[in-house]
Amino acid sequence: MPQAHTLDVKSLAELVRAQAAGEVAMLKSEHGIQPGLAVVLVGEDPASQVYVRSKGEHSLAAGMHSETHRLPADTTQDQLMALVEQLNDDPKIHGILVQMPLPKHLDEKMVLAAMDPNKDVDGLTVVNAGLLASGMPALIPCTPLGCMLVLRQTLGDLAGKRAVVVGRSVLVGRPIAQLLLQADCTVTIAHSRTVDLPAVCRDADILVAAVGRPQMIKGDWIKPGATVIDVGINRVPFRDPVKAAEGRTKLVGDVAFKEAEKVAANITPVPGGIGLMTVACLLANTVTAAKRIHGLEG
Ligand code: NDP
Repeated sequence: MPQAHTLDVKSLAELVRAQAAGEVAMLKSEHGIQPGLAVVLVGEDPASQVYVRSKGEHSLAAGMHSETHRLPADTTQDQLMALVEQLNDDPKIHGILVQMPLPKHLDEKMVLAAMDPNKDVDGLTVVNAGLLASGMPALIPCTPLGCMLVLRQTLGDLAGKRAVVVGRSVLVGRPIAQLLLQADCTVTIAHSRTVDLPAVCRDADILVAAVGRPQMIKGDWIKPGATVIDVGINRVPFRDPVKAAEGRTKLVGDVAFKEAEKVAANITPVPGGIGLMTVACLLANTVTAAKRIHGLEG
């Protein structure tokens, strides 16, 4: 059986970033507007630090105004809320992203409730989630938006395809399912209580894995010829005992890639996959937010 086509997500992400940079240049030259992104990081979670650094670097490279607010782990709810409100009122800022997860003592829902939905470039406020669920223009969470761009580039029209999304988080699983539904797929959302998950997955023309369990989805769970989008990013020790003893780790997805590529038609890699689209779509969302705030797009 032929090997799956490993999707070139890197090139698509570069294209999305280049388009965002082009729009930034146009907004500056034609309207005197420089889209601005503020990223807020509370605490010192190593993975979050990497993501936040990458977001800051890419937004600067696209010509945006970019701010990173690094707050100590013992920041109080009031201090964080005050910063969000300050950013809501700052005309230089069109996009606000509070990197999740927050330290346990902070209430994420309260923070999102305080955020101006027009600046919610992560699409996590109830306003944007509600707009998306109603099929109305919304700021769409970056990772789901990135998954859809990959799927459209790979498969074109998605109408009528059977899609299975494993995972129902507000950040990833649910919005992906909404977007697939809007694209006229027949959508199943699976989760930790789903009975006979392998059989459910085997039904999918499009299988989206957003679980957070390393290599959980096996090759024989995949329908021959399916397109597999692996959202998972999991850090695991190397199998090689020498590397493992040195404490070295590597990134793997939620799909057992080597098995899956023997069955699927298309598959996204980890690393070098959907994570790249997440950052690219953050830039695209910041441009969208800037345009809408200035009445340049519906
Ligand atoms: P969450 O932990 O919020 O959600 C995980 C989902 O998977 C839940 O709905 C859960 O079900 C389901 N699940 C857990 N175990 C099983 C199981 N054994 N069988 C079936 N379903 C299960 O994770 P996120 O959605 O935030 O993230 C998912 C993955 O995506 C993670 O690896 C994360 O690192 C990655 N990620 C990657 C991004 C990127 O840019 N590529 C961006 C964001 C996340 P239940 O609801 O029943 O508990």
